[in-house]
Amino acid sequence: MTKIAFIGLGNMGGPMAANLVKAGHAVTGFDLSEASRNAAAKTGVSVAGSIAHAVREAECVITMLPAGAHVLYVWDELLGFVDPGTLLIDSSTIDVDSARKAHALAEKADCRSLDAPVSGGTGGAAAGTLTFMVGGSDDAFSRGKPLLDAMGKKIVHCGDVGAGQAAKICNNMILGISMAGVCEAFVLAERLGLSHQALFDVASTSSGQCWSLTTYCPVPGPVPTSPANNDYKPGFAASLMLKDLKLSQQAASTSGASTPMGAQAAQLYSMFEKLGHGGEDFSALIHLLRGNDEA
Ligand code: NAD
Repeated sequence: MTKIAFIGLGNMGGPMAANLVKAGHAVTGFDLSEASRNAAAKTGVSVAGSIAHAVREAECVITMLPAGAHVLYVWDELLGFVDPGTLLIDSSTIDVDSARKAHALAEKADCRSLDAPVSGGTGGAAAGTLTFMVGGSDDAFSRGKPLLDAMGKKIVHCGDVGAGQAAKICNNMILGISMAGVCEAFVLAERLGLSHQALFDVASTSSGQCWSLTTYCPVPGPVPTSPANNDYKPGFAASLMLKDLKLSQQAASTSGASTPMGAQAAQLYSMFEKLGHGGEDFSALIHLLRGNDEA
């Protein structure tokens, strides 16, 4: 049993903290939102009134927050209250530079740290089947792994500090580009008089095969569980796809990498969000590609 403080009990953090409780850990949580605190209390999380109270006596602190600025703010505050040697894990999806700054803050306070963003969405968080992409030292990883095992089914040590966030944004850049490509192919097929099912039957067993086609097919029919069959309810919201594509472009710019397809995908999702569709599943991009009138 490990004493864990969990800061950020939202759509992802709430169920992740609940799985740590189920695994037998003592979890104290804090969130700015009263609704999130109340929901977490119902799952056995002991709710604290402040970050200071939540992290007191914690052997490990986990954060699951919206963006890099929130993580740096919260880590800066909590590091004033934890003992040296405490393990800090950030599972938010944030920019690589902020992740490295967070590690530096922890090191200054003589704490261990991991960046450990996730893939798998709210369904994976609830089921405890997330994939964790982890950056940090071997020592920090071996301490954190048993805790991550309680929330996920695949834990990959990607390298040193920031490597987890780097893996996350590279993966999601592939996802954004491949979904745009699959949507374009279905739109072209429609114009050529080729049925959705025929394109699916060929491409899903040919060289066009990819996750965006076979798991998240952007047209209703071929994959009954894809959000297209449920009026494009997320799933993975287009606004979150845009957030990750922007992070990839920020990292490409600071590292000097050329990512023209990533830039194009970011532009498409930005346009889609501006048209008011950020809350729809990211596969709904197909409406934009069919023509602005239908978007
Ligand atoms: P969310 O908005 O539901 O939860 C974030 C929580 O952080 C909120 O409850 C908010 O009140 C809390 N918070 C913000 N500032 C705080 C502070 N200073 N102190 C305490 N609590 C604070 O977001 P989410 O969907 O849970 O996502 C969290 C992170 O996980 C994001 O970085 C997101 O990109 C990433 N992510 C989300 C998904 C998904 O499908 N939702 C999938 C993978 C990764």
